Amino acid sequence: MEQNAKRIKLDGNQVDTDKKNCSKSSYRIESILSDDLMKAVDVVNVYTLSITDRKRISKIMVEVNKLLPIPNLQHLKRIKKNEMIICPVKDVAKLIVESYSFFENVKHISPEIQSKNSVDEIVKSLLDMTRDSNNIKSVVIEFLRVKEFTNEMAEELSSNVGISAVPSIQPKLHWQHTIATEQWPCKFHLNKQLENLYNHNVFTENEKNFHTKIMDLISFISSNMNGKSVGVVVDPRNGHVVAVAGARIDLHPLMHCSMVLIDMVARSQNGGAWSELDSTADKSSDDLYNYNGIDKKMKELISQKFPIQFGAQKPSTTISKTPLQTNDLSSTDNLSKYGPYLCTGYDVYLTDEPCVMCAMALVHSRAKRIFFQNCSTKGALKTLTKLHTIKALNHHYEVYQIYSDTAV
Ligand SMILES: [Zn+2]
Repeated sequence: MEQNAKRIKLDGNQVDTDKKNCSKSSYRIESILSDDLMKAVDVVNVYTLSITDRKRISKIMVEVNKLLPIPNLQHLKRIKKNEMIICPVKDVAKLIVESYSFFENVKHISPEIQSKNSVDEIVKSLLDMTRDSNNIKSVVIEFLRVKEFTNEMAEELSSNVGISAVPSIQPKLHWQHTIATEQWPCKFHLNKQLENLYNHNVFTENEKNFHTKIMDLISFISSNMNGKSVGVVVDPRNGHVVAVAGARIDLHPLMHCSMVLIDMVARSQNGGAWSELDSTADKSSDDLYNYNGIDKKMKELISQKFPIQFGAQKPSTTISKTPLQTNDLSSTDNLSKYGPYLCTGYDVYLTDEPCVMCAMALVHSRAKRIFFQNCSTKGALKTLTKLHTIKALNHHYEVYQIYSDTAV
């Protein structure tokens, strides 16, 4: 038992002791990140004041911070050289929509304001006013009076008012920050893991070798199944293959590769719903591992070429029966703590990008990471959408595409 525990710890780095036997295929692994990390930060238009008398800056700052806080722009410094942010243009537009008296006070400034109803339409009208600085000044001075600035201060703040485009949110990546600070100085916290994900630089050589070996393995299985969509689930702590499956839409239209794979994982936990699948499942088990997730013939086929270990670690007898009732994000810890539960802490390798149904089923199964090789026309992790980046979901797996250099 102790020997086994030691081995699991050592294998935590997914050391590939059988590298010599790997296929010679060359792969590169790219993380698939949310769209907001792939483009420069969006900008938002704000009214800015150009301060000519620098001695007045601190006095003006005190008043502006007190009467006109900008909670949505906390990532920005309020001052850039001699320019100060007064407020977002949208705040003024909102007040025009929400306050009848303010609307009455400014409607004469631009006829367009009178005919617009939505905040966005009024923002557009206010931006169009840049052609006439007197009109901007007239609107801003009325706004500042509503915000309880003294007439004198309102006059001063609106005297040299202009409009600037500033970063709407705090940048997450270094390159985004470089562009954003050229627009306006803003806060930034370097997140090394995110930088590495963006630069496709998250895995050690040993880890890369392991992932590409599994990709070779599923390509091998697929080529032995007439090019069928194939998937493998691996316990990343010890490198064991937990489940293997190919699509079975010949049996049922819902039996896509990932759906069957999830069912095979359930079998490794003595569950599973699709009895049609089975005939040669390896029902054997020992003290530590359950082998029900792998068809016996499949195991034989893989073993011919890949010296890899099989079997799902058995649940601890002392564990809680409902480990995932809390929304715990540390899935690997849960796997160690509670033992196998659905796909918690497991890595899923697929020949093909999963569809929406399969991608969502993998969310429900609490998979840790998804690796796929080929994009699919109905793919939900890159092609049609990036389901794993939807913040509202209560579980998020990482997604990587493994490109075979020979296939690109
Ligand atoms: Zn599917």
